[in-house]
Amino acid sequence: MKEIILCKYGEIALKGLNKSSFESTLVKNVKRRLRRFGKFDYWRSQSTLYISPLEDSIDMDEVLEAVGKIFGIVKMYKALEVDKTMEAILGDTLDYLADALEDAQTFKVEAKRADKKFPHKSPEICAELGHVILEKFPHLSVDVHEPDVTVFVEIREKHAFVNAMKFDGAGGLPIGTSGRGMLLLSGGIDSPVAGYMLAKRGMQIQAIHFEAPPYTSERARLKVEKLAEEISEYCGDIAFHCVPFTDIQVAIRDNCPEELFTIIMRRLMMEIAQRICERENCSCLITGESLGQVASQTMGAIVCTDAACRMPVFRPCIGMDKSEIVEIARKIDTFDTSILPYEDCCTVFTPKHPRTRPVLQDVIDGQNQFDFEPMIAEAVENTKFKLIRCGERTVNL
Ligand code: ATP
Ligand code: MG
Repeated sequence: MKEIILCKYGEIALKGLNKSSFESTLVKNVKRRLRRFGKFDYWRSQSTLYISPLEDSIDMDEVLEAVGKIFGIVKMYKALEVDKTMEAILGDTLDYLADALEDAQTFKVEAKRADKKFPHKSPEICAELGHVILEKFPHLSVDVHEPDVTVFVEIREKHAFVNAMKFDGAGGLPIGTSGRGMLLLSGGIDSPVAGYMLAKRGMQIQAIHFEAPPYTSERARLKVEKLAEEISEYCGDIAFHCVPFTDIQVAIRDNCPEELFTIIMRRLMMEIAQRICERENCSCLITGESLGQVASQTMGAIVCTDAACRMPVFRPCIGMDKSEIVEIARKIDTFDTSILPYEDCCTVFTPKHPRTRPVLQDVIDGQNQFDFEPMIAEAVENTKFKLIRCGERTVNL
């Protein structure tokens, strides 16, 4: 007897001719994510992926938690693999089902025979198992329409499976089915959420972070790496690029109009991010901006920032209130790290009165007061790379 996990894919089952490539991407992702737990047997049938451990030492609760962070899976079930005999189905499963049934009021049994040679037909399996469940849990009654718990029996070629425990999956689409994007990752609350949201739609995420030592500390950068490690549980491995930005910020401060400092800085961030994007074959930028949240996120500011972009900029938090973003940050467990009090390069040399309604031509003229090109090229050249591996925790703060 052992426990296995069944995964239902939901939305990807609707993808018509693309279905098989979506499915195989999902299975590849699951295999890669679960490698660190040990060896498993996998098989697919009717929009369900079966995950069966091949080593006794594997903790299936830990596996379930990891599978619950893999995009493309809508529901998960834990199931018990039992011998293909009526005795085993009626006997061995009751203890296993106890957790689910003790708290319920109503239940029903459903049965499916993939192996039609099994001598008992589905209604017979349902009736007999229903009967022994009622004997053992007399507080229950049967409700075939809206039961609290559905006990599912499946008779397959080699074994029978019995399950009753259903869990929500992460939803979304398998990572790798929606191209690649570059997340501008700060140490704040919003950008890790933005990365999570696009990874959820199947995008492979890389991250770029701008630092300004000595104005920003090593701990500030480590905090961002920690956030990348945290979202990697959902996003998978993350290529992390860290850009030295101090010289550019000093040059803006010394050469450009003070009230346009932030906008010009953001335009230069976008320029550098795009060059790394092109090098890494990413097709879009992602930010955690939310309309009107701060001076650099007003409509006018976003228009001026976007004018420096050659590729789409996705801002999944744009229409969300801070409280809604915080809710997701808590769900994905980045919030506590995000609120650690380390400085960001955006708060270095901030103007006292930033322009909230900048005019694009003024911004372009302001930026042209200095030739940033050599510094941009140098920053790209000196960008440091680190691979953040899904599930690995290396940063302690
Ligand atoms: P966040 O909570 O994501 O830091 P924020 O509300 O603090 O956002 P800003 O500081 O104006 O807003 O930054 C807006 C967006 O710009 C961020 O969501 C992020 O995508 C990007 N960004 C800001 N600072 C950096 C940085 N140092 N490195 C990379 N991207 C950054
Ligand atoms: Mg920030």
